[in-house]
Amino acid sequence: MRSCRTLFWQSEMLKKKPVQQEARRKPRRRKRRKPRTGSSRTRRIVLLLLTVPLLPLLAVAAFSLPNLLLWPQGIVIHHSALGTPEDDRRADAAVIDALHARRGFGAFFRWRTYHIGYHYVIRRDGTVQAGRPEQCVGAHARGFNDRLGVCLLGNFNDAAPTPAQRKALTALCRRLQRRYRISKNRVSGHRDCTHATECPGRWFPWKTLRQQLE
Ligand SMILES: [Zn+2]
Repeated sequence: MRSCRTLFWQSEMLKKKPVQQEARRKPRRRKRRKPRTGSSRTRRIVLLLLTVPLLPLLAVAAFSLPNLLLWPQGIVIHHSALGTPEDDRRADAAVIDALHARRGFGAFFRWRTYHIGYHYVIRRDGTVQAGRPEQCVGAHARGFNDRLGVCLLGNFNDAAPTPAQRKALTALCRRLQRRYRISKNRVSGHRDCTHATECPGRWFPWKTLRQQLE
């Protein structure tokens, strides 16, 4: 039979574990991964679902950025002069878009490529058609593409624009002037940007237009 003293000593020894041994054991312990709960998995899936649709948006923004026109600096007026009077009569924004596509005028903006270099087209009956968006840089006058391009269908070296076209052009210019605070001396013709063209033709009624602009 063991004495009471021996039992006491043994119990004391059991309580006191050597400190060194304790320190040696600690690094061996492996951290246990927390088991994935249902809520953390759901959070990951939601995050993924929110991120994936953003990727195309980021790509669109990255490709659109070089063609961004923050604030148009003026207006440049053109005539179409497509060849024959019949060509100009039949043309519209879609025809010019196809024509400019062949010339490689395309610019990616937002969700699509705009080939037409003008921002607006005015048909002979005075219909105003949208070309590329106002916030997309133009492709209509080298060195002046930070201005909005407006093209009137017709060849004004042969004849003046129709009364409907003049009326629509004045209204459009005034609207754009107000929107972007464009003074009337910043409303010019293509030939004011380069000597290489007569656009918008010698019959274009500059005097009347300037009188009507603000
Ligand atoms: Zn022109």
